[in-house]
Amino acid sequence: MNAIDASQGLPGQPHIAYQGEQLMVEGVRLSDLPREHGTPLFVYSKAAMLSALAAYQRGFAGRKAQICYAMKANSTLAVLQVFAEAGCGFDTVSGGELARVLAAGADPAKVIFSGVGKTRAEMKQALQVGIGCFNVESEAELDVLSEVALSLGKQAPVSLRVNPNVDAKTHPYISTGLKGNKFGIAHEDALRAYQHAARLPGLKVVGIDCHIGSQITETTPYLDAMDRVLDLVAEIEAAGIPIAHIDFGGGLGINYNGDTPPDADVLWAQLLAKLDARGYGERQIMIEPGRSLVGNAGVCLTEVLYLKPGEQKNFCIVDAAMNDLPRPAMYQAFHQIVPVYLPQGDGSGAGAVYDIVGPVCESGDWIGRDRQLQVQAGDTLAVLSAGAYCMSMASNYNTRGRAAEILVDGSQAHLIRQRESAFDTFALEQLV
Ligand SMILES: *Cc1c(COP(=O)(O)O)cnc(C)c1O
Repeated sequence: MNAIDASQGLPGQPHIAYQGEQLMVEGVRLSDLPREHGTPLFVYSKAAMLSALAAYQRGFAGRKAQICYAMKANSTLAVLQVFAEAGCGFDTVSGGELARVLAAGADPAKVIFSGVGKTRAEMKQALQVGIGCFNVESEAELDVLSEVALSLGKQAPVSLRVNPNVDAKTHPYISTGLKGNKFGIAHEDALRAYQHAARLPGLKVVGIDCHIGSQITETTPYLDAMDRVLDLVAEIEAAGIPIAHIDFGGGLGINYNGDTPPDADVLWAQLLAKLDARGYGERQIMIEPGRSLVGNAGVCLTEVLYLKPGEQKNFCIVDAAMNDLPRPAMYQAFHQIVPVYLPQGDGSGAGAVYDIVGPVCESGDWIGRDRQLQVQAGDTLAVLSAGAYCMSMASNYNTRGRAAEILVDGSQAHLIRQRESAFDTFALEQLV
């Protein structure tokens, strides 16, 4: 399965493609990078990020809309800087993310704070810097947030994350909009929660939000969620609580392996038509895309260490592992894996079928299964669609330093994160 035919192009991005025998990210030849920077190495295309963002911006042309990049998808400072400079706001889920995004130059007024478990310290930090909105996920959190705001002599701007109870038709671990998961306030409890929020002196209701899941490749769940949320807006406003902004969350999928999500502008043309039809077209709209802005803007380069043929399986052992690329182990996720140097005419049928695995001591440490590859030890492979939920989920398991990262801009390759050394991984520890 998946013999590579360079002429067919790669999924998702025009900015990552073969030119002759060489896999390029924009004007940079990937086979040139390991010599200077080593492997595993993440390489991102700035143009790919900006063109993914541009699809949303086209979709919202002429509208009052704020795009808040869900930074947990990839929170590296220089990546945040790209989006901050392009005018994005940010969706954060921890005090750490808030500190990080401010360090990257974000405007705090365009930052929103989501998540079911905000601590008092995080609330205080966010109030002090003046974030735009707290996306509150429970009634208990409303009480605590009001109390913290009052203790600072402030009012916290709040939106309630409601659970529209629609099936995003995605992996259960990344589906968040159904009853029975920990996120959001149930549709039928939403009005009561809004009345509760409106009574609290430390809160100012500014919006409503939802987020139904991730890697969504169909339009219907979004249309259904929008209907459900607008029903609530009507109900809440009828009770005398104005809703200034409506935030439809993130979740749009990318093409990992022949997936066919709608383009962001096509999706939004349909959603905005519904919004107009229901009379809410003039509202301030917010969205929180993560994966769809960065997922197909990055690859992870890895060196083939050993080929280990076997009776049942051939293994291709590479120097990247589940600590660098956690998605296969966590979600049985699929990433395309291709050589950075592909000799002409050698693409199809040649080589052998391998499981591509890392050095970590877990059977769950695999990157790709049953892949047709023509490889030898020392070759460099590129794991595609590695821009989202890879580096930001990376760990030091097995005392492996985290990978270095490169941001490509035209023919320039900027090192944006140094490789972590073994010493870095235990620098905060102490012997007794
Ligand atoms: C993770 C998350 C997002 C982004 O999801 P993507 O699938 O990466 O677009 C948006 N909003 C919230 C609340 C999230 O938790």
